[in-house]
Amino acid sequence: MKTAATLELQRPDLILERAIVGGERTGAADGRTFEVTNPADGAVLATVPDCGAVDAARAVDAADRAFALWRTTTAKERANVLKAWFAKLLENKEDLARLVSLEQGKPLAESRNEVMYGSGFVEWFAEEGKRAYGEIIPETVRGRKLLLLKEPVGIVAAITPWNFPFAMLARKLAPALAAGCAVVSKPAEDTPLSALALALLAEEAGVPAGLINILPASRARTPEVVGVWLKDDRVRKITFTGSTVVGKHLMREAAGTLKRVSLELGGNAPFIVFDDADLDRAVEGLMASKFRNAGQTCVSANRILVQEGVFDAFGQKLAEAVKTLKIGAAWEEGANQGPLINDRAVAKAEQHLADAVSKGARVLAGGSRHSRGGTFFQPTVVAGATVDMQCANEETFGPIAPLFRFKDEEDAIRLANATQFGLIAYFYARDLGRVWRVAQALECGMVGVNEGLISTEVAPFGGTKESGFGSEGGRQGLDEYLNLKYVAMGGLG
Ligand code: NAP
Repeated sequence: MKTAATLELQRPDLILERAIVGGERTGAADGRTFEVTNPADGAVLATVPDCGAVDAARAVDAADRAFALWRTTTAKERANVLKAWFAKLLENKEDLARLVSLEQGKPLAESRNEVMYGSGFVEWFAEEGKRAYGEIIPETVRGRKLLLLKEPVGIVAAITPWNFPFAMLARKLAPALAAGCAVVSKPAEDTPLSALALALLAEEAGVPAGLINILPASRARTPEVVGVWLKDDRVRKITFTGSTVVGKHLMREAAGTLKRVSLELGGNAPFIVFDDADLDRAVEGLMASKFRNAGQTCVSANRILVQEGVFDAFGQKLAEAVKTLKIGAAWEEGANQGPLINDRAVAKAEQHLADAVSKGARVLAGGSRHSRGGTFFQPTVVAGATVDMQCANEETFGPIAPLFRFKDEEDAIRLANATQFGLIAYFYARDLGRVWRVAQALECGMVGVNEGLISTEVAPFGGTKESGFGSEGGRQGLDEYLNLKYVAMGGLG
């Protein structure tokens, strides 16, 4: 297997070319495989099993056996296992970051952040698992005690995207295990290696066999694997991070066995800059929100709404900042924007840009693919965006920042909320009354006020509207994996 020289792993065995099912490293039952490539140069990183229905069913059997034992462990025992896993992740954090960069393409500094962010969930839920308190409800009838217990939901199917291949899975595995659940998981076709490494280190840390099953599958075979899990009534929950269209499909199919569902879906985040904003701070926040991971994050600013009094000044400052970004592969010195994940992503960015320009938008910076070829795309700023453009209504998921002009606060809120998505919104303002009014009026699950990057394991992450429902992280994140059981104990005298 070929890796770029400067991104060699200290532990090459962390690149696992097997699925993990019931603690065994295995190929697909029918021997099929697919290749994982580096999006920066197309080099083949690994050849992994292309799992199918037989493997998916075996994984549920394994999870079922593991769950029967794991659910009987104490919260403290589970916490100790998770803490050991966290320690393993820290011990291997540089290799894990390199692996994320290799298969996903993001700059190494961003991969390091992703590994620390994802590992943070393991640490957090190791502790939170010990606080899955039930309740005692004051009695209404003499001699009858009313108790609320929290119990693990059972086997969880976790389906994750390629844009944060490490963190999106850690964010699901950690609370599931802390709650006492077992997991069957299918990472995205483009990025199965980080998921496999995460599970391999869990195994080394003493996570019992069968609790984490990782089944790589190609795009063509994914519906077959997930289809088995959707039909199996032993799988009691689906947790999904990905596009809204797939999320809706999973929810429909999960209805067959009435599974619990958590959906972290697409966004169309507004980023509002009011006249009274600190413009330099707003530019800094936008650079983090828009250009991190080359714009391929669900919380990327998608529509930048700028009040007319500061529109030109903001556009100019932003264009200058964008021109300082250095495009390159993760191992290149100083590179802070990597390639897009694949050709489809480039095609979408190009289409949104062409559509905007054809409808009158002006390019202030960038404006096309990058001259170095492949899937590299120039960080781009366009002014004069309008609501009839594709970039106003769909997630671009690329490094293009379209600037829309607005008049006043009411106008900004109307524009910001004019989307079926409701994941996150950002705004920059200094007037305290406005800060409170706007934070309340925005229709979404999360708001960044004078901040462009707000994700943390200690606060619940999640959306509203067609961005989905459910929380990941925070103390609320644990409840997603717990059922409530009400016990009325009578005849107590
Ligand atoms: P996607 O196409 O929905 O894929 C996500 C996952 O679902 C992948 O593992 C994919 O497998 C799988 N999948 C695709 N079709 C499926 C089907 N018919 N049945 C079962 N599973 C299926 O999304 P993506 O393009 O990878 O990721 C980008 C999207 O994720 C964006 O919309 C982004 O906003 C969203 N996202 C949301 C959050 C959040 O927390 N809200 C975080 C990150 C990303 P294959 O790779 O094999 O197709």
